[in-house]
Amino acid sequence: MEYQEAANLILQAKNMYALTGAGISTESGIPDFRSDTGYYKEFDGATALSRDVLLGDPDRFYHEGFVMLKDLFAKKPNAGHKALKKLEDLGYLKGVITQNIDNLHTLAGSKKVFEVHGHTRTVHCMSCHKTYPFQDYVDLVTVEEEIPPRCPACQGVLRPDVVMFGDMMPQDFQDAYEAMETCDLLLVAGSSLVVAPVSYLPGMAKKLIIINKEATPYDYKADVVIHEGIGQALTKILSLVEEGASR
Ligand code: NAD
Repeated sequence: MEYQEAANLILQAKNMYALTGAGISTESGIPDFRSDTGYYKEFDGATALSRDVLLGDPDRFYHEGFVMLKDLFAKKPNAGHKALKKLEDLGYLKGVITQNIDNLHTLAGSKKVFEVHGHTRTVHCMSCHKTYPFQDYVDLVTVEEEIPPRCPACQGVLRPDVVMFGDMMPQDFQDAYEAMETCDLLLVAGSSLVVAPVSYLPGMAKKLIIINKEATPYDYKADVVIHEGIGQALTKILSLVEEGASR
């Protein structure tokens, strides 16, 4: 029933966007933050992945937050990422706004991706701003005496191009905010919707579909709420959309 309602909303929408969080990537083997099996059971992400800790307590950053960043490597997109890519190909989805930093939407083939919390493709030097591939940085960190790893050109401190707690939001967030002004349907997949300022975006949507295993603070406002696994939910919805389009 909910699946059909979600498919109907998608078929009617003119400007649909998706907003994804860590939950869409758990089926690719990447833990989220706040589930029972999430990173928060191991460390406090808000502290370990902060600019203050990177600069003031690099040992903690590299033994907690960095371990999570490194885990994101060599993972593959799953059915949820692929269904969103297909909805974009079919012309229903205008873009994906993601809080994830694992590059999996791009690897799945999604073309319009707003990476509002950055990504793990590159790092940059905080002094001379030169950028380097993320893998080079990981290799430097594995050499114990390189903590914090330094810029080969000027010896400044290197940092990942992810948005850490305490950082400014990037241009992608501004672009996503502007996209939301014309968005008539937002499909949220795999986010607890508690991390600001991204958590304000669902409040701007005219229609809202939420797919998340646990309840979110926006469930009361949503037109359709599905508390199930994203891979199978999005696959079902996609096939109903395809069926509806062919009628
Ligand atoms: P979150 O951990 O706060 O919430 C994830 C939600 O997804 C939970 O409510 C959980 O119930 C749900 N979920 C987990 N697996 C699911 C599944 N298979 N099907 C349906 N629902 C599922 O994550 P968030 O809201 O994205 O916010 C946390 C921050 O964590 C973000 O800023 C993000 O950058 C960062 N993060 C990113 C990654 C990644 O890039 N893959 C991983 C961990 C954390």
